[in-house]
Amino acid sequence: MSASATLIASLGLGENFLAHYRPPPQNEAAEHELQPIAYADTLKPILATATTTTCWKKMSSAAAQDGISLHVISGFRSIEYQIDIIQRKLNAGQDMNQILEISALPGFSEHHTGRALDLGQTGTPPLTEEFEQTNAFNWLQSHAREFSFSMSYPRGNQHGIAFEPWHWLCSP
Ligand SMILES: [Zn+2]
Repeated sequence: MSASATLIASLGLGENFLAHYRPPPQNEAAEHELQPIAYADTLKPILATATTTTCWKKMSSAAAQDGISLHVISGFRSIEYQIDIIQRKLNAGQDMNQILEISALPGFSEHHTGRALDLGQTGTPPLTEEFEQTNAFNWLQSHAREFSFSMSYPRGNQHGIAFEPWHWLCSP
């Protein structure tokens, strides 16, 4: 049984549950495919694939030349770590529907691929819709595609995932 199937079963969600879950499954990057793309405040490395790192370096320096300061908040996340996140939220008393408005089920997060980045701008609270009001977001909307990045979850996206202006996927 896959890790996500085990978790879904342990949550008592029926087999029907996955049939109605809209986000597509995502493959987990292998450890050797990952490298540090940035460092978190804790100095813990944030990992991404080599290609994503190359695209990001080009994009962030082009942004800097336009006076836009972008930074990486998070990158690769393992399926195991996604299970931890959901388990912690369940333990804190949130219900599954509430959790799934924000977090993907293990096995279904684009962060597993090592190609998804959550981006932020200093001075704006991280991972909030306020990011949409920043000049960094405006810049991304005009230029990200030149560097193979696209916003995965615009408003009203087909996956039924909440609007995430900070979440960008590298697909060269
Ligand atoms: Zn994200």
